[in-house]
Parts: sequence; structure tokens; C-alpha cells
Amino acid sequence: MSPSSLQEEKAYPPPQRISFAEHEQRLPWLAILMDAYLITDQGISEAINREEKQGKKLACARGCATCCKSHETIPVYPLELMGMSWYATEILDGERRDKLKEQLRNLDSIQSCPFLLDNACSLHAVRPMACRSFNVFNTQCAAGEDAYYTRRGDVLTPIKKYTDEAFNVMLPFYGVKNKAERRKMIKTGGMHQMAKVMRDLNWSTLADKMDAFEKN
Ligand code: SF4
Ligand code: SF4
Repeated sequence: MSPSSLQEEKAYPPPQRISFAEHEQRLPWLAILMDAYLITDQGISEAINREEKQGKKLACARGCATCCKSHETIPVYPLELMGMSWYATEILDGERRDKLKEQLRNLDSIQSCPFLLDNACSLHAVRPMACRSFNVFNTQCAAGEDAYYTRRGDVLTPIKKYTDEAFNVMLPFYGVKNKAERRKMIKTGGMHQMAKVMRDLNWSTLADKMDAFEKN
């Protein structure tokens, strides 16, 4: 087998766009969000492949969720908040829905992200860019560790052109339609002023919204 085909075999698989076709027809902002997430995921996939070709090994895996417990300042943008709220309200079902509602109403009793259930993200399909982008190589994070501070060299650096393009796709939703204005806002980082810290938000209102949706 040639080296190139070996690399292809080992490569981190190309991400697929997650589609909520019927919902996206009704909610045009959701299509924008899912497009932006695909671009983000493509950039992350390419960055992981680059690092793995240099000999690093991705440590992140299903069931590993220390980052969702130890990171206290995860940024979320308004469009992302809409996606999370929509998904919890209209898509999440069964026992996980009930568990999430209870958790959202009792956040004082937990340290983790409001959406972490049984060591898995309850909103995985619409998790924020910050969560998609945080990846660690070589060794899984220890309890309480934020690898960004303990071993920056093992933390993936996202490829800027993809991150910029994801924001570029989202900015018209915020009323920034002109190309030059979008470029300027991305260059100056102006859109980061819109971000909220996930843990700081009043998530019990989302549990109420989920209840109201069930009654309709
Ligand atoms: S960032 Fe750390 S804790 Fe989170 S999935 Fe990756 S290795 Fe696990
Ligand atoms: S939104 Fe999901 S992936 Fe992000 S911190 Fe919360 S549980 Fe983890």
C-alpha cells in the first residue's frame, strides 16, 4: 500500500452536514447555522489530520467529557443559542428530555455544562463552535484539567480560514450583509462582543419553553 493511500485510510473522516430539512425550510436561520457548523467541522477535520500526520494522536473520544465539566467560560453566539434552544425544545425527546429539563432547573447543584447528560452532550448536533473546536491530542484530559492552560501544545489550533468563513456565513443573520463590512468585523473580532458565557445564562427559562412546547 502506498504511503498516500495509508494516510487516506487513517485520515479523520470528512464531516457530513447535519440536515434538519423540514425545520430548515421553516426556520431559515437554522440552515445558516448548520452551514456554519459544517464549515467549522471541515476546518477541525483538516486541522486534526494535519496534526496526526505529524505524529500526534487525537485523545478526544466518545464518553470523554472532562472538558464539559471543567470549562467555565464557554462562549456561545446568539444564533447558536437559538439552535440549542430549538433543538432542546423541538427535537430532544424521551428520558433525555426529562433529564435535561430537570438539570436546567437545578444548575446550582452541578459544576458541568448545563447540557451534559451521562457524560454526553445532549445537543451534540448543534453544540457550539467553541465545543467543536476544542480538541486535545495525545492524552485525555485529567479530572479538572483545562489543557489550554496545562499543555497548550496538545490543544488543536483551528485553521483560521475556516473559522472566519463560518462567521462570514453567520453574519448576515446579525444584519451584517455587506461583504466588506463582514470582512472588517471578522478581522477586528467585532462579532465576539455578541458572545455570552454559557454558564452565565438563565437556562431554567429553556426548561419552561420545553414544557410549553409539549402542551401545544
Ligand atoms: S478535550 Fe479533553 S476532556 Fe474533552 S473530549 Fe477531548 S480529551 Fe476528552
Ligand atoms: S454544549 Fe455539549 S459539548 Fe459543549 S460543553 Fe456543553 S455538553 Fe459539552
